[in-house]
Amino acid sequence: KEISSRENNVAKIKVVVRKRPLNKKELSRKEDDVVSVCDNSLTVHEPKLKVDLTAYVERHEFCFDAVLDQQVTNDEVYRETVQPIIPIIFQRTKATCFAYGQTGSGKTYTMQPLPLRAAEDLVRLLHQPAYRNQKFKLWLSYFEIYGGKLYDLLSDRKKLCMREDGRQQVCIVGLQEFEVLDVQIVKEYIEKGNSARSTGSTGANEESSRSHAILQLVIKKHNEVKDTRRNNYNNNNDGNEKGGKVVGKISFIDLAGSERGADTTDNDRQTRIEGAEINKSLLALKECIRALDNDQLHIPFRGSKLTEVLRDSFVGNSRTVMISCISPNAGSCEHTLNTLRYADRVK
Ligand code: ADP
Ligand code: MG
Repeated sequence: KEISSRENNVAKIKVVVRKRPLNKKELSRKEDDVVSVCDNSLTVHEPKLKVDLTAYVERHEFCFDAVLDQQVTNDEVYRETVQPIIPIIFQRTKATCFAYGQTGSGKTYTMQPLPLRAAEDLVRLLHQPAYRNQKFKLWLSYFEIYGGKLYDLLSDRKKLCMREDGRQQVCIVGLQEFEVLDVQIVKEYIEKGNSARSTGSTGANEESSRSHAILQLVIKKHNEVKDTRRNNYNNNNDGNEKGGKVVGKISFIDLAGSERGADTTDNDRQTRIEGAEINKSLLALKECIRALDNDQLHIPFRGSKLTEVLRDSFVGNSRTVMISCISPNAGSCEHTLNTLRYADRVK
């Protein structure tokens, strides 16, 4: 499993679909699995009723860069999506990996292990002869966008704000970054951050499905020796001596449940506002990725907080991986089709 640093021809945008297996509840309800996978295409068999109530099945076929069937492991997901990008992080690449899909489709299950595996490979590369003498260091931060506002998941959900410097670099003021000296610590940071994700009266998964969680791994080049381990200055970006100069970064984004964007007619005002915000950000994200794919000069970052925060990952030498997670059960058919159509339009 040698990581080649010559792998430069990694696609700029890659769209992958992952199907999870039916869960216990769905099995006990004897729900049908309506998604069949064949190579890089998949078919959804949508159960429908005619006006005279005769049942029939409508078939929808989609094709993506890769389709990962239910038996595919998280390790294989990593190898298919993130691993090819790792070597070029050292070559000024800013990469983003998104998990998109309805609540319960496997976004968190898919995203959780990826930063850990990525950190392992990044640290291994850091120690290779080519980079060993370059004073490169790996930094980690983890924050959330909830209702259009930013919270640091590694420092008691401290509220953060974003600004842009003169060179249109994004700077998240006050965001804590931690140096990754040993890879096991990444796991602890992920767990700590996850337990800090928005939890309300309605239960953890319910609430976290309304926020976007963003974990960033950043390679910086340090010229000074006196870098502090806990970097309070985080300017996140190029040119900051205390924090080092950003060489490349990869962001892992566990998006809000895609169905939440439809909560715009809910009785609860707060839910409606959050739903509108999520809807806006998922639409803006799609527009930005499409603009990237068409090499458009104007990328519509301004559409949402999410895309503004990721702005520097959409310009220059960028790579985007979209992992669309889908549930296989008949009851989720409509959401599954929405997710697949979204993924289809991204490319
Ligand atoms: P989401 O983050 O999209 O709301 P989760 O990642 O929490 O969804 O997944 C919902 C449930 O399904 C969890 O219990 C998770 O362990 C399980 N699950 C998701 N994807 C898979 C998979 N590929 N294989 C096995 N179990 C899965
Ligand atoms: Mg989740």
